[in-house]
Amino acid sequence: MTLQKKDAVEVFAAGEKGRGLRTTKEMQPGEVVFAEASFAAVVFDSLSMQVCHNCFRRQAYPHRCAQCKFAYYCDRTCQHAAWEEHKQECAAIRQQGKAPNESVRLAARTLWRMQRHTSKVSDGQLTTLDFLEDHISKMSPEDLKVLNGNVQKFKEYWPSKSKQFGVDYLQHIFGVINCNAYTMSDQKGLQAVGVGLFPNLCLVNHDCRPNCTVILNHGNQTFLDASFHSQRRIELRALGNISEGEELTVSYVDFLNVSKDRQQQLKRQYYFDCNCEYCAGGVKDDLMTAVKEKDGKKPSAEQVKEVTEFTTQALAKIEQARTEGNFQEVVKLCRECLEKQQSVLADTHLSLLRVLRIASEVLSYLQMFQDAANYASRLVEGYAKLYQPNSAQLGMATMRAGVIHWHAGNIEIGHGMICQAFAILMITHGPHHPITKDLESMRTQTEMELRMFKQNKAMYHSMREAALNSKPTGAGKVH
Ligand SMILES: [Zn+2]
Ligand SMILES: [Zn+2]
Ligand SMILES: [Zn+2]
Repeated sequence: MTLQKKDAVEVFAAGEKGRGLRTTKEMQPGEVVFAEASFAAVVFDSLSMQVCHNCFRRQAYPHRCAQCKFAYYCDRTCQHAAWEEHKQECAAIRQQGKAPNESVRLAARTLWRMQRHTSKVSDGQLTTLDFLEDHISKMSPEDLKVLNGNVQKFKEYWPSKSKQFGVDYLQHIFGVINCNAYTMSDQKGLQAVGVGLFPNLCLVNHDCRPNCTVILNHGNQTFLDASFHSQRRIELRALGNISEGEELTVSYVDFLNVSKDRQQQLKRQYYFDCNCEYCAGGVKDDLMTAVKEKDGKKPSAEQVKEVTEFTTQALAKIEQARTEGNFQEVVKLCRECLEKQQSVLADTHLSLLRVLRIASEVLSYLQMFQDAANYASRLVEGYAKLYQPNSAQLGMATMRAGVIHWHAGNIEIGHGMICQAFAILMITHGPHHPITKDLESMRTQTEMELRMFKQNKAMYHSMREAALNSKPTGAGKVH
């Protein structure tokens, strides 16, 4: 896909960060800086039988490629649309008798795509893959071993009659994939389903307090007919006002870690030292580790250490119980943990927020909405103090909390939060994203219910009871 506003961005030398991307005009919050289709993308190995290899939509009964018996599609329309991309892959899988791992498949798709469009890969592409960073020289021996293993697997997979590549070049391609591939989620943004390369996006540098966000938007996929399923594409959206000439940034990692931990994660995964304003100044670290003060007295260092260590152990047990589907146990462990944290940790402490998040999710899944609503509200209050105002994470958490309150019968709070979430998602996801559209219909529904509630509370409650009984899992069920 071509850059939609080709004139609004340009590549520049961003000092020690290497190359970067900057705007050539002023941008408003929610403005699409550019949209870009994936250069190449693959479905994860673990989901290859459940997700359409063309549009990345989850399918209960997908249609299998009769030739390689590996690729799955919504239907013949998706299969037909994917053939150009799948043709050589299909033959290679048949030749080898099995499909290689997702990294090897992505590398092969990338190289096949480059061969189809020899020199220039697409209009509006600001760089070629040859010029992207691979960071091979900074890789740890273990990472390098994995990379070389993939190079070997690639050589076994790549057809012998096709153009052959040297080891150095293949290492470069795998290195680029390693630090630039973008994880792609399903149409509702609920589950990561695959990974893709977006060359323009690769040029956008990281900042822990970024001025842009990247969102996948596969377009309207509510149509059952696959001919309406659009291609896999991302949008880079402005989070606030960006002035002309300002560097565009996104965050590669979740902000909810203290600066030292974020820096370590960035170094390990992306091979650079983050010196952003928030890391350099340790901004918000104090809130993320804040303790409770009562009558001017703080808990002792030992107390804090004991509670945070208890939480770390509890979180491991909670994760285990959750995987086993033992949700009652998850609730019990969360409550124990919150009880211990109560008098020691402040509302913005990361250990507390992690437990609140799980507690609200699981209680809502168990349809214990009143309890869930209480935890969800505390979670959103904490998030609001840490995340920037237009952050997708804050928007999504506010949406979940709003839905929980709505289900709990707290229609005023529920509607209020759904409106707040809608305002954030209009910026981070845009009006055409499926989640924003869901939120919009929930906003209309809750607005109607709120009006009814204000007119006649008794009638509202009896209507709600009836609705809950007939439809135990509501439209906005939280997973
Ligand atoms: Zn499909
Ligand atoms: Zn096939
Ligand atoms: Zn940083």
